[in-house]
Amino acid sequence: MKVLVVGAGFSGATIARQCADAGIKVVVIDKRDHVGGNCHTYRDTDTQILIHAHGPHIFHTNDREVWDFVRRFGKFKRYNHSVFTKFKDQVFSLPVNLQTLNQFWKSSFSPAEAQRKLRHNCRECDATLSFEHAAISAVGPELYNAFFKTYTEKQWGVSATEIPASVFKRLPVRFSYTNNYFNHDIQAMPVEGYTDLIQNMLRHPNIEIELNCRFSESLLSCFSNCFYSGPIDEFFNHNLGKLTYRSLSFEHFRSSGDFQGCAVMNFADSNVKFTRITEHKHFAPWETHDQTIYTKEYPSAHNFSNDPYYPVRLQQDKSLLKKYEEQAEQLSGICFVGRLGTYRYLDMDQTIREALDISDYFINQTTTSRLAS
Ligand code: UDP
Repeated sequence: MKVLVVGAGFSGATIARQCADAGIKVVVIDKRDHVGGNCHTYRDTDTQILIHAHGPHIFHTNDREVWDFVRRFGKFKRYNHSVFTKFKDQVFSLPVNLQTLNQFWKSSFSPAEAQRKLRHNCRECDATLSFEHAAISAVGPELYNAFFKTYTEKQWGVSATEIPASVFKRLPVRFSYTNNYFNHDIQAMPVEGYTDLIQNMLRHPNIEIELNCRFSESLLSCFSNCFYSGPIDEFFNHNLGKLTYRSLSFEHFRSSGDFQGCAVMNFADSNVKFTRITEHKHFAPWETHDQTIYTKEYPSAHNFSNDPYYPVRLQQDKSLLKKYEEQAEQLSGICFVGRLGTYRYLDMDQTIREALDISDYFINQTTTSRLAS
């Protein structure tokens, strides 16, 4: 028995490692020249700063099993992520918290006063309908227009009324001065980066890795099973049409000292075409670097010459996805996994959780059928 894993991001690497530990031979292929998928990090040769090549990635979870799993492959350090946003020449703290509200309203409200004022400003509407509805019902039109509408429309390339409400619900709203971007108990960075971590996951005598290797259907005949973490519509050669993804491009800059004083600065104004600037050395506050590298992130439409990053999940995408899922169910021995394989906006920890569950199920089934034969 030999298993093919397509894509060496967290999904693929987790499944590959679990299978390898269970004695199953695995071949992992990736079209890129490195493992790590969109979490890829590398050390800049001149400065030794760890670069998040495809945008900022912060590991956060409440899932102890996932946490125990990733820590087998590299050292992590606690990292608290604070994000700021520039709007009309002022810098505000995110996620929306008491500091943001008091600065925005030029006031000094207590938590209860701010809560009352926000409740008064919010509009009653069906918060499940769209990003815009969810935001207006949680923070009201003023804050929505300042911090969310333009950023979201730059990020996704469509009206915020077309973006699912679940995207807004990723962001907490707080009535305290806590400005941690996430609510999870466990928040950390792999000290040597994600690519190093994933390389360690894949370092196993039962795993073979082939980089710069594109998937083709003809490969399947050499394997008993395949776990596919590429875009599900691409697997089927877009035979029912193309799902909408958002892509990104990055512009890197070097300077000395500290460029912006934090890891991530968002830009909420429409005249700024990028959504955020990431200053990489702030992801590793335990390191010292005199130089700095920062990156402007520009969202763009996905086409055949760039990589998909985010599933947009418009109404028409949801019905198209259903049809692709029906096609997938007709196949035997192929399982679609991860953000692109399942066309969902998953975080790293959710991806790993699902990959652990899928590989456990697969290994149990394989063991049972081996015993039966
Ligand atoms: N968002 C926004 N303003 C911000 C930050 C986020 O409107 O300053 C919205 C935007 O639609 C974004 C979503 O919230 O896509 C989720 O934000 P998150 O920071 O989780 O995005 P990611 O880091 O995954 O790109």
